[in-house]
Amino acid sequence: MSQMITVLGATGSIGKSTLDVLARHTDDYQVFALTANTQVDALLQQCIEHRPQYAVMVDEKCAVQLRAKIALSDLTTEVLSGVDALCQVSSASEVDQVMAAIVGAAGLLPTLSAARAGKRVLLANKEALVMSGQLFMEAIKDNNALLLPIDSEHNAIFQSLPVNFKDDPIARKQVRNILLTASGGPFRGWTHEQLQRVTPAQAVKHPNWSMGQKISVDSASLMNKGLELIEACWLFDVKAKQIEVLVHPESIVHSMVQYVDGSVLAQMGNPDMRTPIAYGLAWPNRIESGVASLDFLTHSQLNFEPPNHDVFPALNLSRQAFDAGGTAAAILNAANEVAVAAFLREQIPFTAITDLVDAALNGCEFETADNIEVILAADSSARRFVQEKITAWT
Ligand code: NAD
Ligand code: MG
Repeated sequence: MSQMITVLGATGSIGKSTLDVLARHTDDYQVFALTANTQVDALLQQCIEHRPQYAVMVDEKCAVQLRAKIALSDLTTEVLSGVDALCQVSSASEVDQVMAAIVGAAGLLPTLSAARAGKRVLLANKEALVMSGQLFMEAIKDNNALLLPIDSEHNAIFQSLPVNFKDDPIARKQVRNILLTASGGPFRGWTHEQLQRVTPAQAVKHPNWSMGQKISVDSASLMNKGLELIEACWLFDVKAKQIEVLVHPESIVHSMVQYVDGSVLAQMGNPDMRTPIAYGLAWPNRIESGVASLDFLTHSQLNFEPPNHDVFPALNLSRQAFDAGGTAAAILNAANEVAVAAFLREQIPFTAITDLVDAALNGCEFETADNIEVILAADSSARRFVQEKITAWT
């Protein structure tokens, strides 16, 4: 029997890589729904190729356009619109797996909806987990859903941890710590003064990975690693101090687990998201992903160095937010999203991103994050707080 899958954020970098892997295994996987925000023609092309039962465009006007184009084709795909439709195609009874690859807080409700419906959730959308950690993990547990990390580092950690690490006290005692690797981004080794003048074009040009704009900027500021630190704490039920961040500029070692006997297990591979995507789709099996074998002779040097916390404060801000608990991480995430968008519009300098996150963590009140309304309210108020500061600035 083939697996039915919904791809949230199909037109993005992760969405496209997911469809690339699925196209190699059409006997084993069928696409139930594809979703996008506003890219009508890109979603149309994907519908033609993958013939889903549903296509969802968040924007209603875009849905009208896509519907008209689909009517002219031989497709039977039904076009829906809005956030409720995203939640419907994530929780429909026909669906086995949901690839959560929307960028940012916009992915929270549909991803949570997949968790609540007991699906296999392939999590790329780290912001959803950062915002709602406890609530999200409870939804997974209470509904017998399966959460598999797609973020390459977390996928590597998952592959390197003992089986059943979370639930088995003996397995937990065997692990000394987790080594979360970071490429260091395009500005590794730069000074604060140099960072003040960088442009969006420089920031989105990642040395090793090809990704969406927002995560590329996050990688440049190391906020991506900060979000990943929080993501790892929730996924593997560990404390922030059990995770050490190591800069590894080659992005070949995707992360490691250090055991009490001194052994270190690492997962390695070329920097191509199709590897963790294929792993998530097929787990506990492995399938062909289209990624070439790693050639150690062309990557004969693997380097490691500590992060520079003075120039890149995002990691410490993230540790601080996770340790504070409640809505602090939702505030950190929302502040970062608004600041990154303003940087990409060239309204603020690059270094202002983490300044604004810091200001939001100091200026917004933290609350207990035990229901979705509180989390969404914290997200909105942090967005307003940061937007006001940006408006005053420009
Ligand atoms: P992207 O910008 O390339 O694509 C984002 C997708 O989300 C698009 O399909 C877009 O239509 C959709 N989208 C955007 N705004 C939306 C909204 N308001 N409502 C609904 N849909 C919306 O992003 P990406 O690089 O593919 O990243 C997606 C997620 O995966 C992010 O959370 C990112 O952190 C995570 N991730 C990405 C990579 C990578 O290599 N690209 C690696 C690890 C994790
Ligand atoms: Mg990552």
